[in-house]
Formats: sequence, structure tokens, C-alpha cells
Amino acid sequence: MSRGLIYLDYNKIVTATIEVFRKCDIHSFPIDCEALLKHYGYRLFSYKELRDRNPELYSLSLGYSEDAFRSGASKIVAYNSDRPRGRIRFSLMHELGHHVLGHTGLSNQNEKEANAFASHILAPRMAIHYSGCKNANDVARLFDMSFEAADNAFIDYRRWHRNVVIYKMSTVDKAMYAHFYNKEQKCFVWSIHRCDFCGRILYNSSEPRCTICVLPSIPKKTHIYYHDFDENDRILQRQHLKWLYDF
Ligand SMILES: [Zn+2]
Ligand SMILES: [Zn+2]
Repeated sequence: MSRGLIYLDYNKIVTATIEVFRKCDIHSFPIDCEALLKHYGYRLFSYKELRDRNPELYSLSLGYSEDAFRSGASKIVAYNSDRPRGRIRFSLMHELGHHVLGHTGLSNQNEKEANAFASHILAPRMAIHYSGCKNANDVARLFDMSFEAADNAFIDYRRWHRNVVIYKMSTVDKAMYAHFYNKEQKCFVWSIHRCDFCGRILYNSSEPRCTICVLPSIPKKTHIYYHDFDENDRILQRQHLKWLYDF
């Protein structure tokens, strides 16, 4: 291997994300970045808050990065709140990556690994697949990422997808699948949330409301049609799932 070439162990990175999903009981996207850091014992401050609370650490953080800063000893993560939301989320998960991967000291290798970790924990390639994302815009919307981060994730998703089609799922892929497999729904679940109108639990829906609440009041007969539609959707989903997993 030539000097300066950085080799990324994707299995190690993805395994680390699965560990976090298990420990923090994550079963839905987009993830709550702040909650994950708190789970690992970190307190979160904006650079402005840190400036007032801990000027010493603040001046240290400025020399470190304009985006985010982590002190493992003080268990503090500070971030630049002037950055766009997607970039903040990526920076926070980058810092979690350093913690989870046990990095000490600064190196290009550590930075690359933390970036890969952030990308994979925000948008696991398998979740991109099952959520049916067709492009980077879909990824940005469903996984709450910047367009740039979503674009990189989508390009990498296609690489991953080609590999799965040719070589089938790896051991790590199967561990990811097992974590997000929902026994009641009998499929890979990438999103669980309540309809913001009727409160019904929605699985794998990118809409804030269920199909009934999103429409103006409709006669009962049409209701049955929509029920059938849901059922068809679910069958399609299972066929899709079979294609990827059963081999
Ligand atoms: Zn870093
Ligand atoms: Zn509803």
C-alpha cells in the first residue's frame, strides 16, 4: 500500500453504527443526533453557549474546528449553530464517530473514519434502499441531511446495492437487517411515527399524515379502496424485500 493512501474498513464502520442503533434502541429515521450524544454521556452546547460557560474550552475549540468540537475528558460536544441544520447533524455524528470508534489524537485516517461513520449512521445504505429513495433529494428529505451529504450517501448506496446484487448480503448487512426487521410488520422498518392528525402509528411512511387524514372527507366506499391500496402497497413491499433478502 502506498504511503498516504487511506484504507477504510467499511465493515468496522457499519458494525459501529449497528452497535449504536442497538444501544440507543433506534428503529426509525431521521435519527435524533442530540439524543444519541446524550446517550453516550455528552452534554451539547453551541459555540456561543460554550463561550459563556467555559471560555478556556471555547478558545481550544476554535483552534480545532469551525464546525464542531468534542472533549472526551469533559464529555462535551460543542457545535457551530450558525451552520445549516444538515451540516450540524453531520458534524455531531462525526464527533460521535470519534467516540464510538475509540479514536485518540488527530489523523487523516480518524477523520475519514468519523466522516464515514456520520454518513452511515445518518443514512444506512440498507435504509436508503428500503425507503425507496430514487435520488439524493429523497435521501436529504427522509434522513434530514444536507444535499451534499445525501449526494455522497446516495452514490455510495449504489455501490453497496451493486455489491448486494452480485455477492448477496454480507454478515454485517444481515446484522443491520436483523436489527430493523419488524416482526409485526414482517419487513424492514426504517420509519415509525404517528400520524400528526389521528395519532395512528405509521410504518415506513414519509408523510406526516396517514392516507385517510391527508385527504378531505371521502365517502365510506372510497375508504375501502384506500384500504386495498395500502394492502397492495404492503404486498409490493414484501416482494421487494424478498428480492433482496431471500437467496
Ligand atoms: Zn474529526
Ligand atoms: Zn391519520
